[in-house]
Amino acid sequence: MGIASSMETTKVVFLEINQQINKISFSKHSCSRDIHELIANIADVSKYSIITLTDKHDVHVPVTPAMPVNTERSPYVVTVKMPCRRESKQNEKKAVQAAINQVTEQLNRTFKVDEFKKELSDRLHQVERRLEVEGLRIVEIEKCKQDITSIKDQIWASHKNYPDNCMSDDKKITLKRDVPSYPKYTLSQETIDYLKKPTFDSWHWEPNEMLSLLEHMYHELGLVHEFNTNPVTLKRWLLCVQENYRNNPFHNFRHCFCVTQMMYGMIHLCKLWEFVTREDLGILMTAAVCHDLDHPGYNNTYQINARTDLAIRYNDISPLENHHCAVATQILSNAECNIFSNVDKDRFKRIRSGITMLILATDMARHAEIMDSFKNNFNKGFEFRDKEHLDTLKMVLIKCCDISNEVRPMEVSEPWVDCLLEEYFNQSDREKSEGLPVAPFMDREKVTKPSAQIGFIKFVLIPMFETAAKLFNQIEEVMVKPLQEAKDRYEDMKTRGEKASTSS
Ligand SMILES: [Zn+2]
Repeated sequence: MGIASSMETTKVVFLEINQQINKISFSKHSCSRDIHELIANIADVSKYSIITLTDKHDVHVPVTPAMPVNTERSPYVVTVKMPCRRESKQNEKKAVQAAINQVTEQLNRTFKVDEFKKELSDRLHQVERRLEVEGLRIVEIEKCKQDITSIKDQIWASHKNYPDNCMSDDKKITLKRDVPSYPKYTLSQETIDYLKKPTFDSWHWEPNEMLSLLEHMYHELGLVHEFNTNPVTLKRWLLCVQENYRNNPFHNFRHCFCVTQMMYGMIHLCKLWEFVTREDLGILMTAAVCHDLDHPGYNNTYQINARTDLAIRYNDISPLENHHCAVATQILSNAECNIFSNVDKDRFKRIRSGITMLILATDMARHAEIMDSFKNNFNKGFEFRDKEHLDTLKMVLIKCCDISNEVRPMEVSEPWVDCLLEEYFNQSDREKSEGLPVAPFMDREKVTKPSAQIGFIKFVLIPMFETAAKLFNQIEEVMVKPLQEAKDRYEDMKTRGEKASTSS
């Protein structure tokens, strides 16, 4: 079986080489090149020779394992042709050229790798250098930041010694100028009547004129007579008060004037002299005049968070209001400026305590507590003769006056909102720079005029004036109504603003 199959896979072919018959045998599975080499070997020529086979009909027979078998009598004639030298030389040349090209390419590649390496190294060096420079810059920036912080600290510290943290308790308050340094104004009857109205435009008056108007109020209410005040002392006291208000955007002498004028207006609106003593009127008016003395322009929250001297001195309890009281007392402690110098000790004590109580009541942190006390007393049946009842009424009155701008006509009230926001933004900017908490209602990024006012009018002002109106009905028409109009106006403004921002 093995032999038979071996026989079947072997092919025998006869060839005539140089006129001699040769028999070759090869496997059917061998390749053409093997057969070609076998014939070349028998013909004794180079294996690169060109070998052609032709049969008896002179037909070419391909040198492949598939070539047909033949007989000894009809062999294939083998013709050998040597390869052309020039061709082979050219082939050689081509081969050499190809090899050279290959080597060149490899060299190039190698060369480019080196070039690439060099470029990479250069870039790395540049990056390292830049990092080094940047690093130095960062160090310098950090140093500058530290310097700025230190300068700021020094400025704040130097401010704290006076402007921010106000005068020390032992600092004597003396008048920088003496009366009469402002002229005596003759007020027209029109101004005198207008001064009693909540619609009074406080923006039209110069500081000296405001002093005269305040002076007039004290005379007109009979307070000068009541306390036997020397008219010149009244002038000096008012001057000294004016000098001790700072030039803040909001908490300035004009705000003091507005609050006092509103108190004067409410006294007239409610005919308060029919219910309370002249002494109480004096306490109400004087508390209004002094209620924001030496305000630094940064509120209690700032004082407490920044741990200012004021907050430390008053243990975080209404630091500003306590300070306003202290300055008011200091001014009165100067005999030349003491409008109550002619009253007896007990009365002075009572007056001072009344003023202090009212100024302390202007801390909005106590708003709910004070309103609740007043409502309680009202529900029990308000008694003017009951000191506790009267105290809560007086506190509500000064609170109403302190935040009464929105009761005034729009052209008077609106600029005050800008002033207040300016002061708030000053504070929030400082809080940001000092890393302190910032109240959203003070943040210039978050507040708009209508957004600042709507909630305040709706939830603070209207309920408070409505409560006061329960006792004095005339407050409803003269004060609550304008507040509602102001709220509507700001709501309109808000809607218009929203429409404008959605359409843009
Ligand atoms: Zn105030």
